[in-house]
Amino acid sequence: MNQPRDLSRREALKTMSAGAAILALGSMQVRAATAPVAANALNPPPKAPPPQPFRLPQLNFAYDALEPYIDARTMEIHHTKHHQAYIDSANRALAEYSQLQKKTAEELLQGINEIPEPLRTTLRNHVGGHANHSLFWDILAPRPHKALGPNLGPAIERAFGSNEAFKIRLVDAAMKRFGSGWVWLSMNRGGKLELHSTPNQDSPYMTGFTPIVGIDLWEHAYYLNYQNRRLDYLEAIWNVLNWAEAEARFDKAAAAAAG
Ligand code: MN
Repeated sequence: MNQPRDLSRREALKTMSAGAAILALGSMQVRAATAPVAANALNPPPKAPPPQPFRLPQLNFAYDALEPYIDARTMEIHHTKHHQAYIDSANRALAEYSQLQKKTAEELLQGINEIPEPLRTTLRNHVGGHANHSLFWDILAPRPHKALGPNLGPAIERAFGSNEAFKIRLVDAAMKRFGSGWVWLSMNRGGKLELHSTPNQDSPYMTGFTPIVGIDLWEHAYYLNYQNRRLDYLEAIWNVLNWAEAEARFDKAAAAAAG
């Protein structure tokens, strides 16, 4: 935790000539090495921050890696501003609830109806937003395997007739979602695939479903590049859906449903 010292050093460097700065830097290092107690007394450590159960996950690819389908600026704002804001609000809401802090996002959403208002609505929106976006980043890939996996492929054919029919129904559900929300391929408690859409940041976990593929339908996911053309965005994002990840999620959900 030497950030305060680094900051004050940077401040000092800004206001000094280069020569004076080098000299001052040398003396600061000596003082820090020989008299750490005095340095700490001048800069007492800040009070411990409140617990932060949720953190922004790293992406598995660069912000520009999904171009031309999803532009770098949209990805960066979506990840660092929108997703971060859901995390900050969720952490703030959970600050005084140490028992709830121990639960995962999925567990909180599965048990959302047992949480009293107004906390329930806050967690529904912000823990929902965190869980939905965490899945979204994983389900995207720059050069994805286009073919469906050996387990999910036949399951989609059984449920929807064909992969083409599945895509048509998914795009239809996405276009019919009025306002903001998500379109999902989920597994229900009985192990069956369900194609459905949720408003706002409502999560499939809230109704006992396990999401396998999710597409963000909020305008912040596409407005910079596609403006009001949601259909063009859906066609584009189809090129960067990570079917290997979908297969892994399907297998995990199927094992849980069977067990
Ligand atoms: Mn979003």
